[in-house]
Formats: sequence, structure tokens, C-alpha cells
Amino acid sequence: MSKVIIFAENFDGKFKKATLEAMAYGAEIAEKTGGEAVAVSIGKVSNEELASLGDYGANKVLSITREALEMLDARVYARVIAQAVEKEGADVLVFTVSNASKAIAPRVAVRLRAGMVYGASGLPTCFNPFTVPKKVFHGKAFADVVINSEKKVISLAQNSFGVVMNKKEAVIEQMDAAVDPGLIRSKVTNVEKSTGKVLLNDAEIIVSGGRGMKGPDRWKPLEELADTLGAALACSRPVSDEGWRSHTEHVGQTGKIVAPNLYLAFGISGAIQHLAGVSSSKVIVAVNTDKDAPIFASADYGIIGDVHAVLPRLNEALKKFKAEN
Ligand SMILES: Cc1cc2nc3c(=O)[nH]c(=O)nc-3n(C[C@H](O)[C@H](O)[C@H](O)COP(=O)(O)OP(=O)(O)OC[C@H]3O[C@@H](n4cnc5c(N)ncnc54)[C@H](O)[C@@H]3O)c2cc1C
Repeated sequence: MSKVIIFAENFDGKFKKATLEAMAYGAEIAEKTGGEAVAVSIGKVSNEELASLGDYGANKVLSITREALEMLDARVYARVIAQAVEKEGADVLVFTVSNASKAIAPRVAVRLRAGMVYGASGLPTCFNPFTVPKKVFHGKAFADVVINSEKKVISLAQNSFGVVMNKKEAVIEQMDAAVDPGLIRSKVTNVEKSTGKVLLNDAEIIVSGGRGMKGPDRWKPLEELADTLGAALACSRPVSDEGWRSHTEHVGQTGKIVAPNLYLAFGISGAIQHLAGVSSSKVIVAVNTDKDAPIFASADYGIIGDVHAVLPRLNEALKKFKAEN
């Protein structure tokens, strides 16, 4: 029986897709072992938002809201999370792979003398010995990692499990963690967002371009489409290798793994390495001049045509539809 703690990272008081995915993943481990799933939230989050973790399998939510914890400090957060693990007597701790957890999770693992798997790609394949799968060598191979320590830390790769609903009535409990203010050595005094755009990992709709777009100066219609749909932009690897778009937009085996509701692929051939990053999308739509392009085998809907002819018409039709509805 495993008691599983899930670190419920919030962004400006809201839980995003990656946190809900980690929650659902931790709850599934608890369920498979007849245990309990406890979320730990640090910082100011409304009761309604905390309770929403119950929709993804939380039996309990520990909320820690001290003023000293309003700004993320990895050393302090690691100590607080380790306290929650000890208080609950938990044996498994789950994070999502994020910038914050990259700094926090290994520190907690050291404090708890726990073995850790970074970038887990699925549920444990075995609980005795505790074996967790992960991708290695840029996704070219899978490894099964056995954790032998009593406590186990897992950082789940984003979009590898899915945001799975699993309705529970989560009990919300305030936890008073000990925080040594002397440990806090830096303070963020001002944050300015550089973009208001939808982030790739959070996007429900992704508009993606490949080499068939023909050049960096041909991206305007894709940007227009993304704006109309409230979508994030993505691209194939050669597009970012050639500097047409930033590497942050590259999806696939060596890029981001995404799982939106809708993935729109324009001028992308559908190589296996590209599909490795997008095949968990619920619906795939492809536009390609080549009727034999491999992307059509994975697409739910396809248009055989020139992207530069299709995109303006699609943009016009969608704008008209939005205006009328
Ligand atoms: C180890 C390794 C890792 C890799 N990792 C990744 C990865 O993470 N992500 C990734 O994307 N790739 C990756 N690749 C590269 C991958 O193998 C493909 O080369 C790449 O995905 C192809 O990109 P593309 O479809 O944009 O370009 P192309 O293969 O050149 O295909 C362009 C497509 O556009 C179509 N087209 C051309 N003109 C038009 C037009 N006017 N209108 C409509 N369609 C048009 C063509 O018919 C063609 O199907 C990896 C390769 C290796 C070896």
C-alpha cells in the first residue's frame, strides 16, 4: 500500500494541465496499491481551486500558505515538501517535470534519502521491485528504472500520462510547516511577462508548420490562425534547425511532447520522430500536397493541397464563423 504525495505546483494561484496530470498519475499509483493520494500546495490558492484536485483523484489536499513561501525558493520548498512527506508517512512523491521541480525534486530526494526517476514516461510497470519506465537517448530507447529505497521520488514527463478525471471528494487541510527565514537568500521584486501567448505544453489547440511552409517569412497565416483559435504555435525539427522558428516550438522525439485536443499540421511529412511528439493528440488534421505523405496515416482529417492556398481560405472562413457566432 502506497501513500502518494503529489506536489501541486500552481501558477499565479491556478493549477495548470501539467499539475493536473501529475495529480492523476499519483492518484493512479495510490489506487493500484490500495493507498491514498495527498496533494501538497504551497502558496495562495483559493479553496475552490484546491478542491478541484479532487476531480483528478486527490483524497486530501495539504495547503501551506506562509508569507515566506509566496516566492519560490527551491531550498525552502524542498524542506517544506519533505516535512509533508514525513507528516503523512508517504512513501512515493510525484512531481511534474517543470523548471521549479527540476530544482526542488532532487533536493527533496536527498533529504529523504530517496531514489529518484527524472522524466518518467508512464506508470510503474511493477511495484515490487518498484520499477518506473522512462525515455532515454532522446527518446530512442526506453529504460526501466528500479528504485530500491524506502521512499521514492518520481518526476513525470509532461504529456506522458494525460489529464485523467478520477472524481474524489478531497479534504482540504491547512498545514503549518516550519520555515527558517534565514534560508531565503534571494527575493524576486518584479516579474514582467514577456508574452501573453498560449504556452505549447498547456495548449488545447496547436497550429504547427513544417518544411512545406517554405521559409521563415511565410509564417504570418499560421500566426493568424493560431490567434483566431487561441492556439499555440509549433514546428517540425528541420524548421527550427534552419532557424525559421525558435527551438522552443519544436515538437517530436527530440523536442516537446504535446497532447492537445487538436493538432493542425501544415506542410509536415509525418516522420516517425515527429509523430513521437504529437501522436497523443486527440484529433490530428493535416494539410499536405503529397497524398502519400505519412502524416495522413495518423491524421483524423486531411486536406491534399498547398498550405499557401488552404491557409488564407481557412483563416477567412474561421473569422467569418467567429463573427457570426
Ligand atoms: C534522431 C532524430 C531525431 C529527430 N527528432 C525530430 C523531432 O523531434 N521532431 C521532428 O519534427 N523531426 C525530427 N527528426 C527529423 C525527422 O526525421 C524529419 O526529417 C522531419 O520531421 C521532417 O520535417 P518536415 O516534415 O517539416 O519536412 P519534410 O520531410 O521536408 O516534409 C515537408 C512536407 O511538406 C509537404 N509540402 C511541401 N510543400 C508543400 C505545400 N506547399 N503545401 C503543403 N505541403 C507541402 C511535403 O509533401 C512534405 O510531406 C529527427 C530525426 C532524427 C534522425
